[in-house]
Amino acid sequence: MLQRCAVAWAVAVVALVAVPASALTVQFDYSYDTLGFFGTAENPTPARSTLEFAARSFTPFTDTLSAIQPGGGNSWTARFIDPSTNTFNNVPNLAVPQDTLIVYAIARDLAGAALGQASPGNYVFSGSPTANFSNAVTNRGQGDQSLDFAPWGGVIAVDVRNSAGIARNWNFDLGVEPPLNDYDFYTVVTHELAHLFGFGVSNAFSTDIADNAFVGTNAVALYGGAVPLAGGQHWASGVTSPPFLPGTQPKPSLGPSLTLGERKLFTPLDYAALADIGWQVPPELLGLPADFNGDSTVDGADFLIWQRGYGGFGVTPGDANGDLFVDDIDGWIISNYLGSQGMLPEAIVTARAASAAVPEPAAAALALVGLLVFAAQHRRQSIMNDVTINSCSHANPK
Ligand SMILES: [Zn+2]
Repeated sequence: MLQRCAVAWAVAVVALVAVPASALTVQFDYSYDTLGFFGTAENPTPARSTLEFAARSFTPFTDTLSAIQPGGGNSWTARFIDPSTNTFNNVPNLAVPQDTLIVYAIARDLAGAALGQASPGNYVFSGSPTANFSNAVTNRGQGDQSLDFAPWGGVIAVDVRNSAGIARNWNFDLGVEPPLNDYDFYTVVTHELAHLFGFGVSNAFSTDIADNAFVGTNAVALYGGAVPLAGGQHWASGVTSPPFLPGTQPKPSLGPSLTLGERKLFTPLDYAALADIGWQVPPELLGLPADFNGDSTVDGADFLIWQRGYGGFGVTPGDANGDLFVDDIDGWIISNYLGSQGMLPEAIVTARAASAAVPEPAAAALALVGLLVFAAQHRRQSIMNDVTINSCSHANPK
C-alpha cells in the first residue's frame, strides 16, 4: 500500500486501517523531485508506477515498527543525502506512522556510471528525547541494532544522464524483458531499495560478514554455506540463488553489476539476507517462488491456483509474496518464474558442499582490510553509504 506525499498524513491514517496489520507501508515522498521525473499523483510517470510496484517487494514484511511522533522534548531532524551535491536535506520533526518507512525519491545526474543510489536516512536529535522516542528514531523499537535493522526511511536516487551526458534509456515496462539498449528500471530500484532496507550498509549486515562472505543463518541455510560477497556490500558476481536447480539459478538482485537489457528479480537469496538482518520475511519469499502446490515445479497447475484464488484474502492459495492478498503482483511473480524447478532443501546443502569455493588467502586478507575500514566509517558516520549498482563502489558523504 503506497501513498503520495502531498496528502501523506491523511492518506496514511486511512491506509493503516485498510491494510492488514502485518504489512509494511513504504510511503514515497516526491517533494524533492525537482525534475518532475516521477510526475504527480494525478499524472504519474511510468517511473513512479514502477518504483511503487518495486516497493511491494518489501511491504509483505511483518515487522512491527514503532511510530515516530515528535512533540515536546521529543524533537529530531530527519536527514538524507542528495548524492548529486553530497549535501544533506533536513526535515525537522518528521512524523513517521507505525509500520511505515518514508522514502524520498529523487532523480539526478549521478556521478560516473551510477544508475542509482540509495541509503537509509540519518538523524539528529535536539531537546531531550525519551528512551522510547530515541529507540523509535534510531531503530524503530527493534532492539539491538547489530542484530535487527529498521530505519525511519531514507532516500533513493535514480540517474537521468549517463556518463556522456546523454539521457538514460530506461525500460519502465514491467510486462516485457528490457530492450538490449535499455537499463531495467525495476531491477535498479528494487536493488537500491534493498540497500535502504539495510543490505550491505547496516551494522546488522556487517555482523553477518566473515572472511568476505555472508554468514547469516537464513542465507547459509538456503545457499548451503557462507555466501561470497564483493566488497562487503553485494553478492559476489558468480553467486546465484537456490532453491532453483543448479544451472537454472537466477542471478540475485544484490549482485555487483547490471548489464543493458538485463532484468533481475528479487530472489530467495536476497530475501534470506534481509531476514538475517532482522526483517520478518514471509516464508513464501524464501522458497521456490509461486510453487503453490509444493511440487518443486512452477507450472500451469500453480498458475491455475493463482487464477482461482485471485481476489482472495487471508490463507487463500495463490499468494506468492505472503502479503495475504492474492492479486496482480502474485500473477506477475508466477509469470516470471513459470517453468522453474526447485530442489529439496537437503539437496541444496549437498550440492553446495560439493562445490563450495574457498577464497584465496591473499584475497581474503585484502577483503578483510576493506571491511575494517568500512566498519570504522560506519561507527563514525552512522548509516550513510551511497551505493551504486553498476560499479560496486560506495562513497562517503561529507
Ligand atoms: Zn548495490
